[in-house]
Amino acid sequence: MQPKPTFVTRPFLPPLEEFIPYLEKIWETRILTNCGPLHQQLEESLCRYLGVEHIALFTNATIALVTALQSLRITGEVITTPYSFVATSHSLLWNGIKPVFVDICPHTLNLDPTKIEAAITPQTTAIMPVHCYGHVCDVAAIQKIADNYNLKVIYDAAHAFGVRDEQGSILRHGDLSVLSFHATKVFNTFEGGAIICPDAKTKIRIDQLKNFGHVGEVTVVAPGINGKMSEFNAALGLLQLQYIDSAIAQRKELDAAYCERLQGVKGIRRLNDGGEKVANHAYFPILIEAAYPLTRDALYQTLKDHGIHPRRYFYPLISDFPMYRGLPSAHRDNLPVATVTSNQVLCLPIYPDLEISKVEEIASLIATQ
Ligand SMILES: *Cc1c(COP(=O)(O)O)cnc(C)c1O
Repeated sequence: MQPKPTFVTRPFLPPLEEFIPYLEKIWETRILTNCGPLHQQLEESLCRYLGVEHIALFTNATIALVTALQSLRITGEVITTPYSFVATSHSLLWNGIKPVFVDICPHTLNLDPTKIEAAITPQTTAIMPVHCYGHVCDVAAIQKIADNYNLKVIYDAAHAFGVRDEQGSILRHGDLSVLSFHATKVFNTFEGGAIICPDAKTKIRIDQLKNFGHVGEVTVVAPGINGKMSEFNAALGLLQLQYIDSAIAQRKELDAAYCERLQGVKGIRRLNDGGEKVANHAYFPILIEAAYPLTRDALYQTLKDHGIHPRRYFYPLISDFPMYRGLPSAHRDNLPVATVTSNQVLCLPIYPDLEISKVEEIASLIATQ
């Protein structure tokens, strides 16, 4: 008999019976959406939990990214990373903006700040970096460039729920940050997302844009979209928030277990260090380097043959998809680090109720090839 397959992630769900009272409240009030009481409560709870001032909930992170760009009236060209989920660049195309790809740093796999300036043109209006795997970008260097060239910075923080640095939430950096609450992320509302913004005025504009541009009953001030999170999804978020610390603690243990067992395996480069206090352990990425006996794809297949389903996040690069590859910045010669990394990376299974014994099994499979 085949053993049960192990996937890269398994959505976290709180106990079903604890969700019933939320449903009863929705049935009782008949408030299903349009920024109702649960939506309001989740915004307040998330501000407190994350340690941020203003948050606007969304139906998903992709619509939130599209709206974030609109709220700052970004046009022309935006500098971004090819090493991400495709929604990062798609949000630019949905705004008629030209993505300009810049290579990543080989250590952090985030946008390489030393390569940004060379990509700036008179049309550049913003930088859209990604805190890849929840690892913090070089925010100081990026902000310095943005200040020098008068550019906005919008962080795709889809992986970075709850990640902090010495001074607090990393979501305070840049002009706006966008979170994803998709089923596969550390904190989920089935589908969902949010924009974190620094001031009440910006939040008002974002709230208008996510509600068709409506201001009151008879006034429409902008061609907004429908990006509102429903009361059902907000309820899921409120309940899940009660479990998030223990979910992240469980992830941390698994991360540490992988690190311990993969330490010293020739040709395997770990990107997490296991013990990091301020991380969320959203992913467990490794790079399969030349010294390893198998190629990345051979190891990927070997693991699959054993019922383990890792993912090649991020392969292919965004810049290799048909709607991007014609751009001059999408050329592989412009993106050598991203190109190599994309062919080496493997994200191993990590999620709250994954057994330590499974981590041991996966690590020993990798160590004994
Ligand atoms: C998941 C993800 C998104 C999209 O989030 P949705 O909520 O599914 O729209 C965007 N960017 C990155 C980096 C992601 O991982």
